[in-house]
Amino acid sequence: MDNKDISRRDFIQRLSLFGVAGVGAASLLSACGGGEQQPATPAPAAPQAAAEEEGFTCMDTSGLTEMEVNMRNQLQYTDTSPEEGKTCSNCALYQPPATADGQCGTCTVVKGPIHPDGYCTSWALKPA
Ligand code: SF4
Repeated sequence: MDNKDISRRDFIQRLSLFGVAGVGAASLLSACGGGEQQPATPAPAAPQAAAEEEGFTCMDTSGLTEMEVNMRNQLQYTDTSPEEGKTCSNCALYQPPATADGQCGTCTVVKGPIHPDGYCTSWALKPA
């Protein structure tokens, strides 16, 4: 074994360590959200405040799985529709509460409580 072999072996070992370190750094960045930008969760501050003033909100997601909450966020569900004439109450997918008005209904797509004045990007006009 001569010095040339040792230095070549040493070089290859160092190269593989850098490779592992590079993969580790990429994984760490990905886990920390440093990779791709995720779409920001919408924060409908003003409409939400309006819904709260009306007496009830349907934004409690405490009983939902993480996946259901993510879907709700991805579809940009909000208690107060930003789209004139498009609300959950006139959406084909809305299921009103079994009891009186003033309570949250449900939806066949978005899990969790759904406000009749709410909206999401899956809105579809209820057939007449
Ligand atoms: Fe509301 Fe969207 Fe469900 Fe329609 S699909 S009822 S707009 S949450």
